[in-house]
Amino acid sequence: MIYIANWKMYGNPRDIERLKPVIKLSAHKKFKKIKLIYCPPFTLLDQLNQKLKKTRILIGAQNCHANSDYGPFTGSVNSKMIKSVGAKYVIIGHSENRSIDNNIDINKKIKSAIKEKLNIVFCVGETMKEKKKNLTYRVLKKQIFQGLKNIKNNTNILIAYEPRWSIGTGKVPKNDDLLKTINIIKKLLILKNQSFKKSKILYGGSVNPQNVEEIVKIKDIKGLLVGGASLNPKKFIDIIKKSIN
Ligand code: PEP
Repeated sequence: MIYIANWKMYGNPRDIERLKPVIKLSAHKKFKKIKLIYCPPFTLLDQLNQKLKKTRILIGAQNCHANSDYGPFTGSVNSKMIKSVGAKYVIIGHSENRSIDNNIDINKKIKSAIKEKLNIVFCVGETMKEKKKNLTYRVLKKQIFQGLKNIKNNTNILIAYEPRWSIGTGKVPKNDDLLKTINIIKKLLILKNQSFKKSKILYGGSVNPQNVEEIVKIKDIKGLLVGGASLNPKKFIDIIKKSIN
């Protein structure tokens, strides 16, 4: 299982000191096979990298600019800069940024991250309005086909299914619904390109220690993208423990 902690626009240097129990867990032989990735805001990437250098925990950024070269883009950070501070991952297409980035922007960002050999967490998901109109398949198809346009190699791209209505709301899809959507994503990925057949699919959206056991009953979910709950090390540890038991 892969666990990604998305700190969103939270966190300061003091929070890094609170990660000791997670570091301890990651070193325990029972958890040797899990992959842990922390995605703090840009401001903490370097410091977190220093802190986690001697651990198995990796770090990632929450977004990147579409241009991997340096340039006059005030307030932006590119894949090269992200890589330069030790990050190995970048989240692209997160639902909280999809009102700014369209599928074409997302495709450019993915390409820029590939250029810098970063691993990508590519987020897809429908809004509640789209779900109610039975548009989930169509929305996911567009996100996957346009987002991954002209991209063949799947090895460094994780797909995170994050229903937009579930992010930070406390609402999670019912398991039969979730299973159906994960199967849709698997089919769409293969339809897009056979090289995506082995892509790992993660779930994200209001995961907490209470609902995680139900979610991971779905075998094709190979990891979790955890937002709010990942800010609390105790909750994040609970999620990990409950999902591998
Ligand atoms: C996220 O930010 O990717 C996320 C899943 O958030 P939350 O867990 O808070 O819904």
